[in-house]
Amino acid sequence: MRKTKEISVGNVIIGNNYPIVIQSMTNTKTSDISSTVKQINDLANLGAQIVRLSVSDEKDALAISEIKKHVHVPLVADIHFSYKLALLAITSGADKIRINPGNLGIEGITQIVQKCKEKKIPIRIGINSGSLEKELYEKYHGVTAQALLESMEKHIRLLETLDFHDIVLSIKATNIKTTIEANRMIAEKFNYPIHIGLTEAGTINGGTIRSSYVLGTLLNDGIGDTIRVSLTGNPLKEIPIAKEILSMFDLYQKPTLISCPTCGRTAYHMEPIVNEIEEFLNQFNFRIKVAIMGCAVNGPGEAKDADIGVAGGKGEAILFKKGKIIKKLPESEIITELKKEILKMIDMNN
Ligand code: SF4
Repeated sequence: MRKTKEISVGNVIIGNNYPIVIQSMTNTKTSDISSTVKQINDLANLGAQIVRLSVSDEKDALAISEIKKHVHVPLVADIHFSYKLALLAITSGADKIRINPGNLGIEGITQIVQKCKEKKIPIRIGINSGSLEKELYEKYHGVTAQALLESMEKHIRLLETLDFHDIVLSIKATNIKTTIEANRMIAEKFNYPIHIGLTEAGTINGGTIRSSYVLGTLLNDGIGDTIRVSLTGNPLKEIPIAKEILSMFDLYQKPTLISCPTCGRTAYHMEPIVNEIEEFLNQFNFRIKVAIMGCAVNGPGEAKDADIGVAGGKGEAILFKKGKIIKKLPESEIITELKKEILKMIDMNN
């Protein structure tokens, strides 16, 4: 992992050797306190460790103090353009603010920095391809990694000139290659923690693929101290995907579910079983490999490194552990029995 400064966001530490932190963002109107609290708690129950909220008016900023009474994860206030809203969000109890300092004017930034120092909260500098300064856009003939780096550098220097170093960086572009290149550049140049993500990643299908590519590439380079998978729609869907990506690099402990693509040999209803077991496994942060295979002919052999698995036949399935057949199950009992066996294995290893 990359050596960085360590930044505290409420009771969560970002950077250096600390585990990569999973973040998400609510899509409720922040001033709708009950909906926002519910969504934050749902996200936290799924595994989000920090949640960001948009603050687009005074009501949103003021709502933070009430929301905080009902949630346990640190909250990040996302501010655009108004330093007064940033100040209000900080006073209201935000644990971190996310701003694009260039949008706020030097007087505004000075006041924000003073307030953050007072409250000991960090600032995330968020540079997005969509809001790149006009002069940099013209200088580099468009949104390039170099242009995003220069914008980031300008913003970092602005905060450093004010003797503020409690900073997290994030650069996001819609173009995946630009995002990767720009993140590599800032990782090379600065020792602040980096939040990685892909902006406007898209829907669950396209967005998952694009995010996995970008986040996977950066994680493989050792870049990324916090992570968000941004998808259009319900943010609850983002958390399992973030966990999956992290677990591929051994950066998060979670069960792995493998299942075969099925073929003409499959003689039972496998897909609903896979879906239900996947959802069941999502609640654990424990390493176990579970296999659900389409046939008993090849299934146990193809999945012999799985800790436990089932392979279906006509109206029944066999249960196997590390490729060794343990017993036969009627089709109607596959889900219940498999869940029971998984729980037993988790208990045994705790
Ligand atoms: S495990 Fe069996 S059903 Fe699944 S793909 Fe392989 S041969 Fe086909």
